[in-house]
Formats: sequence, structure tokens, C-alpha cells
Amino acid sequence: MPSSGANAQWQRRSLASVWHPCTQMQRAAQVPPLPIARAQGPWLYDQEGRRYFDAISSWWVNLFGHADPAIAAAIKQQLDELPHVMLAGCTHAPAIELAERLSALTGGELGHAFYASDGASAVEIALKMSVHYWRNHGQPDKRRFVCLRQSYHGETLGALSVTDVPIFRQAYAPLLQDVLWAASPDARQAPAGPEGQAAAEVAAEAAAADLHALLAQHHREVAAVIVEPLVQCAAGMAMHHPHYLRRARSLCDQFGVHLIADEIAVGCGRTGRFLASEHAGIWPDFLCLSKGITGGFLPLSLVLCRDEVYRAFLSEDVAWGFLHSHSYTGNALACRAALAVLDRFAQADVLTRNDIEAERLDAALAPLMRHPVVEHPRRCGMIWAFDVRADAVGSRFAETFHHIGRRHELLIRPIGRTVYLMPPYLLDEALSRWLAQALTATLTETLHHRDADRAHPPAFA
Ligand SMILES: *Cc1c(COP(=O)(O)O)cnc(C)c1O
Repeated sequence: MPSSGANAQWQRRSLASVWHPCTQMQRAAQVPPLPIARAQGPWLYDQEGRRYFDAISSWWVNLFGHADPAIAAAIKQQLDELPHVMLAGCTHAPAIELAERLSALTGGELGHAFYASDGASAVEIALKMSVHYWRNHGQPDKRRFVCLRQSYHGETLGALSVTDVPIFRQAYAPLLQDVLWAASPDARQAPAGPEGQAAAEVAAEAAAADLHALLAQHHREVAAVIVEPLVQCAAGMAMHHPHYLRRARSLCDQFGVHLIADEIAVGCGRTGRFLASEHAGIWPDFLCLSKGITGGFLPLSLVLCRDEVYRAFLSEDVAWGFLHSHSYTGNALACRAALAVLDRFAQADVLTRNDIEAERLDAALAPLMRHPVVEHPRRCGMIWAFDVRADAVGSRFAETFHHIGRRHELLIRPIGRTVYLMPPYLLDEALSRWLAQALTATLTETLHHRDADRAHPPAFA
């Protein structure tokens, strides 16, 4: 039985021993980590039995809710057969089947899969492969990357180099690659005039023109352009029109540059198609997947690449090959979990059901989206976001919102003044109504809190 005071005990021990990610640990004393004891479906339960709706799918990984029995059963069976074997000189069914099935989902366009365990590593692999490809092609000068403003691709040094989040880069700037920045196609930057999709297309075309100019000048030194198709998530759910991806694809073809699609966040059905690139009807040269691919059970990432890229590494010369290695490459348990996720997509019509449920949540959220402090309400597939007007937020808006959300049984972490939902694919009418109500209550209380802040500056300062 959960005992009262259990939460505080675990929080104390955690703060005394665990260094939490993406956290100013001094602030963590004010907003201590939620000690989660168990989880089921969309609900997390703390050590005292209180529940929280995981509105952000635990950093966007948990596709079908927590402890999904089908995925768990697949892992348990694999656990008894073959938990892991090295993938250099050995191979195994889960790694093979997963590569085959993902390739089939791209119509065979991306025919080989290279495995790793985290998203940043997949990005590193795609960057390295691209540069190495050009080297094998006798063009060693093509070794720079073009990335977009507001991009996020992970936090290892290579991935951070192509990431445009100043607060994550600052301390490490001297260690980062010198990259080329292209404009973000963020639809919020559309000029006044056209509305909705038409405005988004104008913004996409303006950003494509910027990419064109950059590639025209620098293509001889550029290996690849890296993009997050449709939604630049970590930047604050900045959404763009698929027109941008079509233009990026054709510019990359025109200038002889690779296109890397980082679908780590937007893949696995998040945008309404299994892969976000499908909305544009294009295939990149490299496609990175991670996060949701194992349904939030185990770490796994991979890079799918075109056969033409793969063939450029074939030679009798060992050094011509892609020698990148990682101990847990293609871990059998993780690959088996990913196969169970693909089974879910194959067996149930997940994407159609999500479309229906998303419209229902739209309807439930409609009054909130008309709140006077709400700007740029937007949705792409199973990602909802809105910004809270700059003049309506206090200095620690995201932290306060998160903290108040807990009282309304909501696990939510705004990015700056952007509030977003990335729920597991388990919505139904009752949950949607509940979620809209909890979110509205959290926003209302957060806005009041800020007024209180002003009256008593020390609170939450
Ligand atoms: C999360 C994320 C990454 C990094 O993945 P990690 O597993 O956290 O290293 C890279 N790119 C995008 C688009 C992401 O959302």
C-alpha cells in the first residue's frame, strides 16, 4: 500500500543521488521530480497512489500508453530466447525483420537500416554517413551541414552542432561544428494576408528560397541538409507546410546534397501518416527514427538509407566501409519491441482512429483555443500546441504551468510559453473532455499565479 510521505522520501533520495536531465538541479528542490511507482495506459501513478495523465507521452516515446500488454508480451518472449547478441559478425531475426518491414514501409526506397540506441546517435550516424559518402565519391570538401533555425537534433556534440537551441549550445559553443543556417519554414512566420494553409505555404516557400540561396552559394562544401519534417518539436512545436519538404528535396537533388529527415519525434504515426515525409510524397536520403519506435519500452534508434548510399560504401578496402560501432547495436529486445509496435499499426487502424479522436479533442479544446491569451493554436496529427501571449506569462511560466498541472492530474511540460499535448494514441471521448477541462484549469490557475507573483514578487521568483 502506498504510504503517505512516500513521495517526499523518494524525492529526497532522488535529489541526493540522481542528476536529472534538462533540469537546473537547484530548481528541482522547488519542483521535485514526480516519483512514479507504476504506469498503466495513459496514467502514471506516484508513490502515494495519485495519478497523472501523461499528456506528453513521456518525452514523446510512449505511443500506445504505458505497460501495453502486447508489447510487453513480445519483449518477454524475446527475453527467454535471445536478449542480445553483437551485430558485427552475427545477426538475428528481430534486427532483420525490423529492417525489412521498415524498408517495406518506404516502398523499398530506403533499403538498409543502421541501428543505434538513442536519437542523437542516429543523427550522428546520418551526418557521418553523408560526409563519408562524399569522401568515397572523391568529394572530401563536402563536409558541412545545413540546418534550420529552430532545429533540434539531440545533444551529443555532432547533433548539438546542427541544433538551434541557444541555451543548450552556449556552454559548448567552442566544441561545435561550423554549420550553415537556413531559415525555418515555421508557419507562424507567414506574412499577414493569406490565412491557414495558404499562409503556411507562403512561409514554406520563403524558407525554401532562403535554402536555395544558401545551397547555390555553398553546395560544393555541403554534405547534407538536415530537417525535422512538418514539426520542429523541441523548438516549441513549430509546424510547417509539406511544400517545404518537396522544395528541400528538389533543391538537394539540384545541388547534389543529401537530405536527412530526422523523424525521431514525428515518425511512427505522430503526424497522421506513419512517416511525416509521406505527407510531402518525398523520400530523404537518410531517415532517422527513435523515440516512439519501441512504444516507449526500450531505447532504440536507426537510420534508414537509400541503396545508392549503401552501395557507395562497398569495397575490398575496409576503411571504405562505415565502421561506426556501438555495443548494443540492434539490441534484440528493443528490435522485438519495435516489431510489436509495427504489428499494432498493421493490425488496428491506428491512424484512422487517431484522426477521429483528434477531431474530437479539437472540439473539446475549441473554447480554450479562443482564450484571449492563446496565440497560434495549431495541430499536426497527434500534436496540439498553442502559445501563451508574451505579456501574459510570468518569468517561470513553463515551470509554474507544469507544477500546477500536477494538481490537475496532468503531466505536461511547456516549452517556453508554448503549451503542447503529445498524448498516447489512446484518446477517447471521455478522456478528451477530461483533458480539455484539466488543461483549461491549469492555464487559468497559472495565469492567476502570475498575478499573485506580481503582488508578492518572492513567490516562485
Ligand atoms: C528527441 C530528439 C532527438 C534526440 O533523441 P534522443 O534519443 O533524445 O537522443 C533528435 N531529434 C529529434 C527531432 C528529437 O525530437
